[in-house]
Amino acid sequence: MIKVVKFGGTSLADAEQFKKAAKIIKAEESRKYIVPSAPGKRFKEDIKITDMLYQCYEAAAKGGDIEEIFEQITNRYREIIKGLDLNLSLENEFRQIKDAFINKAGRDFAASRGEYLNGLIMAEYIGYDFIDAADVIFFGENGVFDSEKTNEVLKSVLSKHEHAVIPGFYGSMPNDTIKTFSRGGSDISGSIVARAVMADVYENWTDVSGCMMADPRIVNDYKTIDIITYRELRELSYMGFSVLHEDAVFPVKVAGIPINIRNTNAPDDAGTMIVSECKEYNKTLVTGIAGKKGFSVIIIEKDMMNAEIGFGRRVLEVLEKQEISFEHLPSGIDTMSIVLSSAALNGNRDYIKEAICRAVEPDNIHIEDGLALIAVVGRGMKNTKGTAARVFKAIAESGVNVRMIDQGSSELNIIIGVDEVDFESALCGIYKEFVN
Ligand code: ASP
Repeated sequence: MIKVVKFGGTSLADAEQFKKAAKIIKAEESRKYIVPSAPGKRFKEDIKITDMLYQCYEAAAKGGDIEEIFEQITNRYREIIKGLDLNLSLENEFRQIKDAFINKAGRDFAASRGEYLNGLIMAEYIGYDFIDAADVIFFGENGVFDSEKTNEVLKSVLSKHEHAVIPGFYGSMPNDTIKTFSRGGSDISGSIVARAVMADVYENWTDVSGCMMADPRIVNDYKTIDIITYRELRELSYMGFSVLHEDAVFPVKVAGIPINIRNTNAPDDAGTMIVSECKEYNKTLVTGIAGKKGFSVIIIEKDMMNAEIGFGRRVLEVLEKQEISFEHLPSGIDTMSIVLSSAALNGNRDYIKEAICRAVEPDNIHIEDGLALIAVVGRGMKNTKGTAARVFKAIAESGVNVRMIDQGSSELNIIIGVDEVDFESALCGIYKEFVN
């Protein structure tokens, strides 16, 4: 059994958190490959090391004085080393990094040092080998992650190490400079490592006990999801659910490796399993409920629209030319509505209306704003009669008017559009009906 274990920033924010992480690693022999993030926030107002590194580099790039902020960064590491009682000095590393900053070694290089230094400390603390991500994770000339080369090299290198720490977030370019993934990218590194060693599980340790069934700030409840499929997660992530970096799913998904989201501060909690397939339904039937405000609808009316071949294409072409993507397309016989984010329309509204008028000569066209979308997601909904009825009953009982309905063809989700002012009540109503 092999587990790849990634720890997020709050799980490694200080020596106490490091101790918890090490205890977790040592609790199971299968936890062989560790992917650390940089130290995150220790308390709400704290600043993540990655953010400090960006700030520090910006100052260096402008030729400013970095003395104070660099000292703050290195002190965080010194405190961790001291708190762990390690016989390790990173002073040489600090000096080299500072010189590199002054010599403008690149923004990505700067940011990556957060994970690099944390990896060195972790390797020393738990007695695992350290493997620099720059030697095993590669980007192509165009800056796009090179999954094939990475997989080949990583597989071969890791086969020679029974236990290793591979810092998250970065890799190298063909010219040997450092490149990072986008923010939160240590999740991706963990997933890549899991694929390379064909892990049985990719454990992603964070500060919550798994994915919440709905935003706790809205529903005032903290129930977590036991099992969720990749497709369900994708539907929920699209609606603002954030647990993992979006790109972290792909490497493990192709390899059929489940992800287990766990809580470093509550290691006995089973967390959430993210899997490719799951025949069983959650007891609640609904796996998760997520939603977002900030949508608009373009409503187009024209008699006999349904008989006009190419009508839809001509309308969508207008959006395509403006490089605007739409979310949903509910339509009636003589009406077509396009739901899209209000931000995408801004600055473009009049032009889009006029262009659609020119393209299809509608009887009427108008744009309504202030729409919120709610996605009710559950793999069990497909085979369970009455689910949609329960969703709409719950919304009606919350005194909310439904403005749009869309059921994905996979029957994995029902999307409901409501006025933004009704968003919270509708979401709570649905949550109450299914979850408690
Ligand atoms: N440290 C990086 C960030 O803050 C990457 C990560 O934590 O995943 O975005």
